Amino acid sequence: MSSSNSHHLAPSTSAGKHKWTHNEQNFVVHKIPIRPYPDGLADSTSYASRVHSECAFLIDEDLIPLLPTTVVSPVPSQPSWPFVVGDTPDRGTVMLASHDIPEGGLILIEHPVIITPGILHGLHSEGYEVLYEALGPDATVELLDMYNCMPSEECGIEEGIVRTNGTAIDLGFKNAQTGKVRMKDMEKWKGKSVEYGAVFLKLDRANHSCGPNAAHKWDTATLSSSLYALRPIKKGEEINIIYTDVAASREERRAHLYQNYRFTCQCPSCDLPSLEQVTRSDSARKDLREWRQTHPTFWKWSRDLCRDDYTVINSHLEALELIEQESLQGMQGIFIEEIALSYAILGDEEQFRIWAKRMVDLVSICDPQQAGEFAKWLDNPKSYKQWAWRKKQRTCRSSFWLSISRVVNARSLPDTTPGRKARQQPSSPSTSPLLPLLQL
Ligand SMILES: [Zn+2]
Repeated sequence: MSSSNSHHLAPSTSAGKHKWTHNEQNFVVHKIPIRPYPDGLADSTSYASRVHSECAFLIDEDLIPLLPTTVVSPVPSQPSWPFVVGDTPDRGTVMLASHDIPEGGLILIEHPVIITPGILHGLHSEGYEVLYEALGPDATVELLDMYNCMPSEECGIEEGIVRTNGTAIDLGFKNAQTGKVRMKDMEKWKGKSVEYGAVFLKLDRANHSCGPNAAHKWDTATLSSSLYALRPIKKGEEINIIYTDVAASREERRAHLYQNYRFTCQCPSCDLPSLEQVTRSDSARKDLREWRQTHPTFWKWSRDLCRDDYTVINSHLEALELIEQESLQGMQGIFIEEIALSYAILGDEEQFRIWAKRMVDLVSICDPQQAGEFAKWLDNPKSYKQWAWRKKQRTCRSSFWLSISRVVNARSLPDTTPGRKARQQPSSPSTSPLLPLLQL
């Protein structure tokens, strides 16, 4: 987007470095070297271990001390990646599966070549030019070959390529165990935006679909993104990710995509033959977006014996049907997780194993910690702290009521003690003298 604020961004040079100021933040070009893993022994077919050996940032200089000083490529989990990038006559450059890829399967681990802050968009192109110059010639040539949808009157080609292809990332560091941002880093970040955009030479070749079959997970510690399958992908199928909120209506999605990327989405979820189907799809996506506020929740059910045993499972299965209908498998994780845990609480080992195994496959790339937890419960389902809780509570309660009824029955036996009378319950709460006070 163009902006009239370009005068806020003043280029200056400090200690031989270009510097751009915006909103009291100083942006500079900064590079981080990337070493292959393990040094000298990297698999030559792994994309993450070859091609470019550094990542160039246009970044708030205060954030530099929080970044790693050097990065080692993540270990590739397979000898070659299951995709090819090629040109098509109708869809331009596309990423295609070269093998069948299972649900949750890894497609690619890649380091971005450049990272830029979203708030500088449209302000000044010079920062982007300096950034490109900082890169090696191979990466620059490949970058400049990428698609630019921005008109030249809005920004230069360097910035246009970033805005057309950049993927949103959060530079915040998360603790590997807790998944939370470290407090000491949060303090340093006070008031600083950590929302940046990263350009990947391969990952960004994946086009958009409103029913994507892949997603990617960013990791600041390794400066890399892992692309993985949201559902099984067949050999030859195009690999798609999302560029917009796919839970929005078709009109909203198309408007956002056109505004930011200058195309009208013709994906199978948008290119529907009748208005009736569009309305049905919009309504399904709205239902899914609001599902957890409008339907029985696992949290309440897991503590409430009055609710039916299958309330949450049935409701979540219904959501999964809608997800399947709309090809929105990116939303299925929480439903699969809670179905697995519901079966754990019911003590149904056979069903628990089916759903927990699916959970392990699904989140092994995007949430290895959660995959590890489910793998542990799969080894020993009874190690789940609420295993068969509902069954145990019912057994407890029924034996409690049984013992109560025995006592009551024993007391109901004809009492032969002279002068003893049965205790009477108050006939109605309204007769209680305390009630007017409680109503005040
Ligand atoms: Zn679409």
